[in-house]
Amino acid sequence: MVSSSGPEARRPAAVVVGAGPSGFYTAAQLLDAGFTVDMVDSLPTPFGLVRAGVAPDHPNIKAVTRVFDKVAAREGFRFFGGLTLGDNVTREDLLAHYDAVVYATGMPDSSRLSIPGEDRPGSVSATGFVAWYNGHPDAAEDRYDLSARRAVVIGNGNVAMDVARILALDVDELRSTDIADHAIEVLERSAIEEIVVLGRRGPAQAAFTTPEIREIAKLPGVDVHVDPRDLDLDEHSAASLTSASATTQQNVEVLREIAGREVQPGRRRLAISFLWSPLEVLGDGADGPVAGLRVGRNRIELAADGVLRAVPTGEEQVIDCGLVVRAIGYRGRPIPGLPFDDRSSCIPNTDGRLVEEGEVRRGEYVVGWIKRGPSGVIGTNKKCASDTVTAVLADRDGGHLNPRASFEPATSAAMLLSRARSTVDWQGWQAIDRGEVAAGKESSRPRVKFVRREDLFAAGTESGA
Ligand code: NAP
Repeated sequence: MVSSSGPEARRPAAVVVGAGPSGFYTAAQLLDAGFTVDMVDSLPTPFGLVRAGVAPDHPNIKAVTRVFDKVAAREGFRFFGGLTLGDNVTREDLLAHYDAVVYATGMPDSSRLSIPGEDRPGSVSATGFVAWYNGHPDAAEDRYDLSARRAVVIGNGNVAMDVARILALDVDELRSTDIADHAIEVLERSAIEEIVVLGRRGPAQAAFTTPEIREIAKLPGVDVHVDPRDLDLDEHSAASLTSASATTQQNVEVLREIAGREVQPGRRRLAISFLWSPLEVLGDGADGPVAGLRVGRNRIELAADGVLRAVPTGEEQVIDCGLVVRAIGYRGRPIPGLPFDDRSSCIPNTDGRLVEEGEVRRGEYVVGWIKRGPSGVIGTNKKCASDTVTAVLADRDGGHLNPRASFEPATSAAMLLSRARSTVDWQGWQAIDRGEVAAGKESSRPRVKFVRREDLFAAGTESGA
């Protein structure tokens, strides 16, 4: 039923669940189209992976928050930090109020290797490690033991590059960044001398992008190593390279340059090793800490579907190490009350329209990683948002938005505010921001992050915020 104050009689209202890049690009485009936009996030802080995922030594990438600040300053936008969909606010709550509900919840979990020993102490996910060094409140109490001499990072994507770089860098290079203070304390005591990055396929199949491998190649004080034999490409990889993307061709060029180098003794060594798959995380007994990683050699085969796959050769070896970080991709987390496709770990959708039990649900949409999977850079979300907003606008024009919505600014805000003990609005976030930036000034850092939820809420709800 469309209420008397339905979309015909008033400005249509959307709620965007998730304050990361896909949420903000969606909000911007919906505001452009005349919607009012309420944005909710489980954290009292906005920006999703820009705050909690982008590496602290990549401040330029974080500059995109200035674009999002401008969105938040627009008339018709409100922020409610501290509300978790499926926990203190439900899908039904949102459908009772908003003409369009857009889920932009991202992918907070890590893919698993599903190998023996994966849960030993010292075998960790990059998702957790990155959240920890970036000061995500859910990871602030986690502990990482960097007392071993060797760490292995599994995966060949940009997250693997980030983790390897943070472990390899001299901690002095990080002191001027917004890395969490607790991470500096642990990294400055790190005994790690060697980081091995393990790719299950070859250099021509690596998932990292060229600026990231170039940055690794130039790390100050680090001896970066690639075995020249790994650049002796198999026939399928060599053949594919000629028609490969510019990224792949340049990646191989950079790796050849590294492989051709003289050993450059550094404080630490970072070895990028190809064609090895992790088989077992080793340690004492069933749950002793990590002492090694058993790995199996692969070769590349051209599969029937045209994909170059890693196939085991039977050769195995053990890498002694005390830390194993799996950087093998992210996974979505099911949200209570919402459909979830376990295989893709996405919310099922057609062109951004939520699908449940085979049917499109009116007025519900999906955007970002939870719509399309964990790939692409921040800017990829702009196009993704545009596709979802195109569906929203077509539904608005066709009269197919949520028929149950009864949005009224004060009542809808009161509903959201009643669902949590504490929430943080945009002014509250700005107070947090000011507090963090002020704390950073003393040490010439962009900010010193508050990492505990209590501190964030206290800074975001203090009088005058
Ligand atoms: P990704 O790019 O998908 O890379 C995942 C890597 O894990 C691939 O090398 C994959 O190898 C490997 N892998 C998967 N399953 C494995 C297994 N069972 N055993 C061994 N290796 C396995 O994912 P990501 O690194 O998590 O990055 C996610 C997205 O964020 C990407 O689009 C990335 O570019 C982006 N990102 C960008 C930046 C930046 O711009 N600086 C920084 C961080 C992240 P196969 O190829 O063989 O499957």
